[in-house]
Amino acid sequence: MEKIGIFGGTFNPIHQGHVHLAKHYIQELKLDKLLVIPTKYPPHKMARDLVSGKDRLEMCRLAFGDCPQAQVSDMEIVRPGRSYTVDTIRQLRKDYPQAKLFLLVGGDMFRSFHRWYCFEEILQNCTLCTAARERNELQELARCRILLSQYSENLIILDIPVLELSSTEIRSRLEKGENCSGLLPEAVLSYIREQKLYVPDRAHEAAVERFTEKIRSMLKPSRFEHSLNVAKRAVYLADLYGEDGKKAEIAGLLHDICKNMPPEEQLQWAKKSAIIFDKSFLDQPQLWHGFAAAEYIQQELGIQDPAILDAVRYHTVGRAEMSTFEKIIFLADLTSEERSYPSAEEVRDTVDQSLDEGMRVSLLFTIGKLVENRQPICRDSWLAYNCYVPES
Ligand code: ATP
Repeated sequence: MEKIGIFGGTFNPIHQGHVHLAKHYIQELKLDKLLVIPTKYPPHKMARDLVSGKDRLEMCRLAFGDCPQAQVSDMEIVRPGRSYTVDTIRQLRKDYPQAKLFLLVGGDMFRSFHRWYCFEEILQNCTLCTAARERNELQELARCRILLSQYSENLIILDIPVLELSSTEIRSRLEKGENCSGLLPEAVLSYIREQKLYVPDRAHEAAVERFTEKIRSMLKPSRFEHSLNVAKRAVYLADLYGEDGKKAEIAGLLHDICKNMPPEEQLQWAKKSAIIFDKSFLDQPQLWHGFAAAEYIQQELGIQDPAILDAVRYHTVGRAEMSTFEKIIFLADLTSEERSYPSAEEVRDTVDQSLDEGMRVSLLFTIGKLVENRQPICRDSWLAYNCYVPES
């Protein structure tokens, strides 16, 4: 029977600890194949030092270049929507119905395994394999094995030398320019240097800090929190849809900057643009802050990037034929983590799977509400509705 190991991780970047664990298991279990599967970024792990899925795949390929059993798979990176390990296991069960599957995890993951989504189903379909990541962790792993053994007998703890390494520590060393030889496979280190990965962008960091302080001084606390959450969600969606995460962070932070200004002041800012507003817009002060913000951040904060300015301008009303970046800011605003309207979780999932479908659902919801309350619909919003909602 074919034996297949499955090794998932964020691998940001892949390091010797990962390779060490994987190679020991290949040898110990005589695996025919090891699938190395970089995961999509889990939203809770979003960090400014993330690198793209493409780079993480490439680093995995380089790390296992000398290992004929290893095969790097992009199945989780390309899968639309949220990605859970159980989905990968279901897929692999279909692809390899006869094989014996082994899921490799480090000690930290083994200890929290009972909290994984559908962990019982995972245990029914594969043998869970682990090794210590920290010295003196073996006893704790043995205790966890007892807990997990009520669900499955297929649990393996391998006693191999511990390599106390983490991607977090390596990123921090790389950012400080410290020597990382020996911590990562040489080819991975060269790739990181060539591609200039994990080099902090000081100018961006300074801008984020400056804009964060600015919005803190201009917004009420709950609006400030919302803006931070929109920025975080926008970075996540930018990574998912191949847009610039740094720009998304700035647009997310600043989209509501004028929201707590007196309405007359918002209108004054909005009118500084060359746009001619119609009555349906001028009659509705709640629509002014996006247009005001685009002018304000251009004139007061020196932001000239048209992509950021348009995304901020249209983040409330939308418009027809929005760019991917505009959709990201529009939808990040509606699906940021503190949003708790009844279908928020569903809308979040939809947006993660398709931006256009996200636009459809959101516009149906917001325009539906306006119709229900007999409120006017401004021109850009109904053009957006016509663009994204009808099924034709
Ligand atoms: P981060 O520091 O960014 O959280 P990480 O070093 O934990 O990253 P992941 O990509 O999250 O790396 O880990 C992928 C898998 O490899 C997980 O199952 C993890 O437990 C395991 N692993 C990571 N580092 C080691 C190590 N030094 N020894 C053994 N297993 C490890």
